[in-house]
Amino acid sequence: MKIICIGRNYLAHAKEMGKEPPKKPIFFLKPDSAILPKRNPFFIPDFSNEIHYEIELIIKINRLGKHIDPSFASKYFNEIGLGIDFTARDLQKECKENGLPWEMAKAFDQSALISEKFLNINDLENLDFELKKNGKTVQKSNAKNMIFSFNDIIHHVSQFMTLKIGDLIFTGTPSGVGPVTIGDVLEGYLNDKRMFKVNVK
Ligand code: MG
Repeated sequence: MKIICIGRNYLAHAKEMGKEPPKKPIFFLKPDSAILPKRNPFFIPDFSNEIHYEIELIIKINRLGKHIDPSFASKYFNEIGLGIDFTARDLQKECKENGLPWEMAKAFDQSALISEKFLNINDLENLDFELKKNGKTVQKSNAKNMIFSFNDIIHHVSQFMTLKIGDLIFTGTPSGVGPVTIGDVLEGYLNDKRMFKVNVK
């Protein structure tokens, strides 16, 4: 399986990163080795001094497809999960400044936190989600604030890559990204249901 991640999919987040909203979805990959094993803490890696959390809605692909028309894209997933795209912001900045690929900053071991549960949700236009750090809300948004919808994303990515059953798509983070430090507790909520809790060590 592969993990596809969308960048800059919320206007307020693009702005906080000092960027214009993109005209087409921006995507990159994380390997399956990036998955944080279930119920493990997140250990801050020693190669970065600035690991950021990015809460994101995740869709799970449930059929094989390529060149998927936007009007059929909704048939390619039926479950939504929640996760964190952990990002080494200091390394990402270095990559951006030097025009280098982002893997070092985005694809490292444990950089993909994925909720154990995925939910069947009918109202995809109105999905609330939030991240709490040490009990305080630090990121909060709704799927309707995405620049590119789930269907737009599936359409776009499938022009380049075959989507396979079990592939996951992280759909971008809203504003409010920030650093994690040892001792932090991160909890993700989807429509007020707690989807994960992770300790930072
Ligand atoms: Mg992200």
